[in-house]
Amino acid sequence: MKLKQDYLKHYFGYDSFRRGQDELIDATLGGRDTLGIMPTGGGKSICYQIPALMFNGLTVVISPLISLMKDQVMALKKAGINAEYINSQLTVFEHNMVVDALRAGMVKILYVAPERLELEGFFALLSNLEISFVAVDEAHCISQWGQDFRPSYLKIVDFIESLPVRPPVAAYTATATEKVRLDICEKLRLRSPLKLVTGFDRPNLNFDVRMPSSKLSALVEYISEHGNLSGIVYCSTRRLVENVCNKLKAKGIPATRYHAGLDPEERRRNQEDFIYDRTPVMVATNAFGMGIDKSNVSYVIHYNMPKSLEEYYQEAGRAGRDGSYADCILLFSNSDIITAKNFIFNPINKDQLEEGEYEELLRKNFGLLDKMVAYCKSTKCLRGHILSYFGQEHDERCENCGNCHSVFVEEDVTENAQKILSCIKRASTHLGYSVGRTLIAKILIGSCDKRLLSLGLNNITTYGIMKNTSEERVNNLIARLVDLDMVRVDQEFGGTSITPNAYPVLFGDERLVMSFKEPPPSIKGRKKIREKLFEASPDDAALFDSLRALRYEIACEEQVPAYIVFSNATLHDMVLKKPRNRREFRGVVGIGRVKATKYADRFVEKIREFGKTVENKKTEN
Ligand code: ADP
Repeated sequence: MKLKQDYLKHYFGYDSFRRGQDELIDATLGGRDTLGIMPTGGGKSICYQIPALMFNGLTVVISPLISLMKDQVMALKKAGINAEYINSQLTVFEHNMVVDALRAGMVKILYVAPERLELEGFFALLSNLEISFVAVDEAHCISQWGQDFRPSYLKIVDFIESLPVRPPVAAYTATATEKVRLDICEKLRLRSPLKLVTGFDRPNLNFDVRMPSSKLSALVEYISEHGNLSGIVYCSTRRLVENVCNKLKAKGIPATRYHAGLDPEERRRNQEDFIYDRTPVMVATNAFGMGIDKSNVSYVIHYNMPKSLEEYYQEAGRAGRDGSYADCILLFSNSDIITAKNFIFNPINKDQLEEGEYEELLRKNFGLLDKMVAYCKSTKCLRGHILSYFGQEHDERCENCGNCHSVFVEEDVTENAQKILSCIKRASTHLGYSVGRTLIAKILIGSCDKRLLSLGLNNITTYGIMKNTSEERVNNLIARLVDLDMVRVDQEFGGTSITPNAYPVLFGDERLVMSFKEPPPSIKGRKKIREKLFEASPDDAALFDSLRALRYEIACEEQVPAYIVFSNATLHDMVLKKPRNRREFRGVVGIGRVKATKYADRFVEKIREFGKTVENKKTEN
């Protein structure tokens, strides 16, 4: 094999490179340093794995997380590549085996965590080997500006520069900010690197924001419709993780949980259950994710709004890593804004901040929050919104997000707005102080809330004047009036008051028109992922399930996660192509030579059997 394309086909079963892979690989092969910026799932690994296979010596990959290394090495071995990792989880025996293999020149790719490079014995071992290339994965961990700063990343450069011959160095990250990129080049002392940003779009992800009246029901409904597909549900607090996970389980949905408050053993077990597809749903805080390479996550649902779009995109991006269709849904409610503000007001390191730093941090984080809220409230293309945020140009509509799929209808809400505004006025006149928006909504719908009754708010004239409207809807209308600066909410106590901007609507004859998403905000009515994939044929959807079952069977036999056997994208292509023999099996996307030899017979047989059953059914009918 001479060409990089041959390696791509032979080992990974792909016919062409994705955007950016070509250039980055060529630069590395030509001995040039590189900085590759690609979104999660963009295909960074192949950018260093192919040069590693083509170079004579060893490629060292520096990766931050042990779980990630293990996964990648497992996947590479399945594809017939001599890859190993060294970390503290290896037994002495395993460690010695790897060292022997390294000395014998039997290893092409070695994964290590940065801390290991500082160990003298390890350095001595490596400096006696021919190192052709050093790849730094998750390179943003080197930057203090990023949220995943790892001090030991700063030592990588010493390691590289003390090697007998400095090999080409490549750094990869999905991080978008310019500051972090500069930091990576500087701290790794990259030599006139090729910097390549491929763009941030993930066309296979379907973004959506929903405001259901009950998040839990919406969640249960969605998950029930999606059977045993893998998905992550992110919640903003540990307590909510517990709560949501228990409620899902009570509804018979197999779910597990992950947050920093659990003991490490349970965390490891739950994570593994999810990765190995034993439990399809993971309910977690944002502590779960980095280092999870699971490519067959079909949906990521945010039960709460994150604090920034970066955070959101990173978390949502864990869906559909293998390029197959996936949903990223954010269940938004106005109370999420309050929770997010609380987090911002109380950062973990608040006590350690110097004077002025806290205020600076607040300013920065509120700026980020504003942009996140704007996303949730946007009526325009959601993908476009995200891409603009990252400074990327885009079409006006993507036709693959909740907003492009929805119709927005204009509605005259003048009367309801007048009712809300006058209720705010009357409640504060009645009490002599202003009232929070939740209570205002309760007065309007005529609730028998204890506090409301004890304050005598059932005696004001606006009590119950919106009794035919749902509380959620009233809350939404109030939130819209806040957005329009007709209602102001006191930062400290949450009391509401009306501003002069409201006067023309309340006292004059100005009409107020708002646009609303149609159909009503619920997840209902959306096409299920499988239906989307196999729109033309329900039989294909059934075949997909049956191939997934076979994949799971093989994964159990081999004790690896199912996606290491084949990605969802590969199964999808297999369903469409229905290979009848080994040769045709090789033509399926993502099947290299080793996997073809190993698995062709079982999958081809399964497809044949399935075809026969379908035929029989047709003749019976
Ligand atoms: P990243 O590290 O950028 O998050 P990965 O390297 O894990 O992404 O790749 C994501 C998925 O895309 C993997 O399933 C990988 O096999 C697949 N992939 C990578 N390159 C290609 C390609 N050229 N064609 C098709 N699929 C690819």
